[in-house]
Formats: sequence, structure tokens, C-alpha cells
Amino acid sequence: MQKVTGEIRPSNIPEALARLAANPRVLVRRGGAPRPGGKCVVYWMQRALRAVDNPALDVAIEAGNTLGLPVIIFFGVIPNYPNANLRHYHFLQQGLRDAAEDAAARGLGFVVRCAPDNNLEAFLEEVQAALLVGDENPCREPERWRSVLAKRLKIPYWTVDADVVVPSRVFNRSFVLLHHFRPHLQRELPRFLVAPSKIESLHAFKPRKKPASFDLAQDITAGFTKLDRSVQPVDTFTGGTHAAMARLRSFVRHDLARYDETRNRPETAGTSRLSPYLHFGNIGPLTIALAVEQAKAPSEIKAKFMEQLIGWRELAVLFVRHEPHYDSWECAASWARNSLLEHAGDPRPYRYSFDQLERGETHDELWNAAQRQMVRDGWMHNYLRMYWGKKILEWAPDPATAFDWAVILNDRYELDGRDPNGYAGIAWAIVGKLDRPWFNRPVFGLVRTMTANSFARKFDAAAYIRQHSPAD
Ligand SMILES: Cc1cc2nc3c(=O)[nH]c(=O)nc-3n(C[C@H](O)[C@H](O)[C@H](O)COP(=O)(O)OP(=O)(O)OC[C@H]3O[C@@H](n4cnc5c(N)ncnc54)[C@H](O)[C@@H]3O)c2cc1C
Repeated sequence: MQKVTGEIRPSNIPEALARLAANPRVLVRRGGAPRPGGKCVVYWMQRALRAVDNPALDVAIEAGNTLGLPVIIFFGVIPNYPNANLRHYHFLQQGLRDAAEDAAARGLGFVVRCAPDNNLEAFLEEVQAALLVGDENPCREPERWRSVLAKRLKIPYWTVDADVVVPSRVFNRSFVLLHHFRPHLQRELPRFLVAPSKIESLHAFKPRKKPASFDLAQDITAGFTKLDRSVQPVDTFTGGTHAAMARLRSFVRHDLARYDETRNRPETAGTSRLSPYLHFGNIGPLTIALAVEQAKAPSEIKAKFMEQLIGWRELAVLFVRHEPHYDSWECAASWARNSLLEHAGDPRPYRYSFDQLERGETHDELWNAAQRQMVRDGWMHNYLRMYWGKKILEWAPDPATAFDWAVILNDRYELDGRDPNGYAGIAWAIVGKLDRPWFNRPVFGLVRTMTANSFARKFDAAAYIRQHSPAD
């Protein structure tokens, strides 16, 4: 597991806060007593970008209520967030507007700061924060920021695992296959798959002088000199909690009952398309799971959906938390690595450069259409993502390069890219991670293959290609 430094057991927490710190979602990264005379509790919003249904914000509010203090949400816009481009920042800004509105409705402060005023530590001094509560993110850099911060701060700092149904530390390990994970998950779900209690701040944020906040009518990326603006925003998805909730309602009402049939039909819009909202934390998995649980649909179909939303998604989070090489071929299990190396010299009838792949210029019209869907819409259907990854392994010079190319393309164009699900999905496609050995085949060795013939017979591939045609 990536080491979480500064972890302090709840024992050195003042009595009044001990109950909150004992919540299995909470990690006390820096313990001790809140700042004497502190004026507020700050929630540092980063991964869980929502002001409703947010377990991290709820912990901040409960701490504020216990200490008799208001809560201020702080969002510091980072100009060089790893691999983020204009498309991602645009979606992020849409989400910030909803979060600001929802925070105001709950009597919470909401402050957005852009560089050079985006320093969290300076903000904590400015508002005389008593305690800092944040969210969690298992990816490398965000986890490093949290660890570094914990060492530098002088006030208590807790993080809350808000974007999974079952907090990852409950398992404290990764799993090789979904069916190994399933019984552990099933054991924990009754404890965590429950509606949260409604928590409201008892101390509304009403300062004499409001801390300065960036005007969200303006562009948060103005002045970013190094931002990749070549990847343009898309109109297929509007960021934010309000759009996420509308999409969830529509999915539950119209599509859920047919999910088992339509989820493998990329030419239909049969899946929830909630992944960008989950990635940006505009909606939490618990909110989705509870809505699905309460929906009118056959129980086996609901179970199928939950297996994706909780089973596969949380398996991916555990993979990234516990695998330091989650985004490179180094994460391959030895059976996959050895077998891929044995087949390294196999003839590859088709080879493409990175640029050809990026432009969708291969002999395979279905693959090109999938690539175009990703580039134009900022999202690709799951069924095609599997095929897309497998073909990159077949056409790249070697498996390590295939892995790198898939990560670059996925993180660049998908709105839900730069996410544990993406790294796990690519590791599944290219190095057989979270999968078992299959039959020995050229190029793939024991890693599962997918051929266009068998795959494209299962849905209306021609319709999908038409929907994502070059002329579109
Ligand atoms: C090569 C490859 C790359 C992928 N890249 C990403 C990525 O960058 N970001 C991303 O979120 N997902 C990724 N996935 C997983 C999956 O394809 C998407 O989560 C899914 O297509 C999102 O569409 P949806 O929201 O309509 O899913 P639905 O079918 O409606 O499922 C609901 C939710 O369950 C989760 N889920 C569904 N399928 C999977 C899965 N196979 N693994 C993990 N979680 C799943 C997602 O959070 C999804 O939003 C990738 C898969 C592969 C094979």
C-alpha cells in the first residue's frame, strides 16, 4: 500500500471529537487539539466536488457543530493538475458552480481561489481554521500532497474516504480477481450501504467580512500559460451535481430495468453514463447505489449494476491504492509478464504509430469509431473500451508501449480519465490484471484476446460506426 504518513490513531483526539474520528471513513493524518480560539472548520474540497451527499463534508459539519463553529469549503484551483487539459477544467468549473450554490443553501462558506492566491496553508491562517477536513484520492500525486500537508500543518487534519461505498481501509489490501473480492465486499455492505443521516450546520457562515473568492462567472483557466487547450470542452456532458442527479433520475426511471440487455449494446445509450460525474466527485457512489436499490427493477438487474458500480469500481480503487505501478506495464502479474515477453517477437500483421492511433487511422473501422467517440464526446462505451485496449496491445511495438499509449489517450480525452477505473481497465486489457490466464495466443500469450469478428457480432457494430463516422 502507498504509505500514509503522519497517521495518528484516534487516541490523541479530544474527547468531544473522538466519536467522529472513530468513523471508519476517517483517517486522522494529524491529530491533536483544534486551534484554540479557532474561528471555523475548513473542508478542503478536491476529489469529492459536491456540497450534498458528501461524507467528508458531513464530517466537517459535525466537527463544526461539536466545536460551535461554522464550516468553510475551500477549493484551490491548481493550474498544473497532472494531465488535466481544457476539457477537464471546463467540466470542473461547471461542477464548482453547483457546489457553490448547494453550499450557500446549506449555510456553508464556499471559497474558490486561483493562483497565486490558491495556497491552502495561507488560507487556513487567514480564516484561523481550528481543524482541517479533506477528502481522499488513491492516485499517486494527490496522495503525496495529502501526506506532505499532514507533516507541515500545525492544526489537526483528517481525511474522509468519501468516494467509495465501503472505505478502502476496511479491506486494507487489494484482490486479484472480482470473485475473490466479492465475499469480503458482501460482508461489509450491510454496514455501509445505508442512507446517511441528514447533517446540517448549526452555525451558519456569516462573517463580517467574507473571504475573497474567485468569481465563477469568469474562466478559472485564464492565465494558465501551460494548459493544453487543444482538447476542447464537449457538449455531451455538463459537469456538476445538478446534471449528475438529473442523469441518475433518468437512468433509474428509463434504462435501469433493461440494463442487463443494453449494457453491452454500445449503439444504444443503455448505461448510466455517470462515470465523468463519479470521477469529478459531483455525485457519490452511495447516492447512486441507494437510488438503484430503491428503484422498481428486477433484483438481478440491480445486482448486475451494483457489481459494476461497487464491485468493479472499488476493486479498481483498491488496485490503485496498493499497486505503486498502477499506470505502467510494471503492474503485470508474473504469469502475464512472462507470457507477453515470450510472445514479444511474434509477427504483428498491423502496426500503428501513436499519432495514427490518436487520429483513429487504422484498418479497423470499429476501433476508429470508438477512438472518435472518445475524442469527440469525452466518453467511450465500456464494451468498446475493452476492445480498444486489446487492439492497442496488438498494434503497438511492445506491451510496455501499449500500456503507456493507452494511458496517455485515455487520460487525455476521457472526461472520466485520470481515474483508478482507467488504470485498472487498461491493466485488465493489456496485462491481464484482475483477470485470469486464458489460452496461449500469438502476441497476447495468456492474456485474454478479443477479436473483431466475435465481438462485433454481439451488437449492431454498423450502427455504432455510423454514429461515430469521420464526417460527423
Ligand atoms: C481499457 C479501459 C479503460 C477504462 N477507462 C476508464 C476510465 O478512464 N474511467 C472510468 O471511470 N472507467 C473506465 N473504464 C471502466 C468502464 O468502461 C467505465 O467505467 C464505464 O464505461 C462508464 O460508463 P457508465 O458510467 O455508463 O457505466 P455503467 O455501466 O452505468 O456503470 C456504472 C458505474 O460503474 C462503474 N463501472 C462500470 N464498469 C466498470 C468497470 N469495468 N470497471 C470499473 N468500474 C466500472 C463506473 O464507475 C460506472 O460509472 C475503463 C475500462 C476499460 C476496459
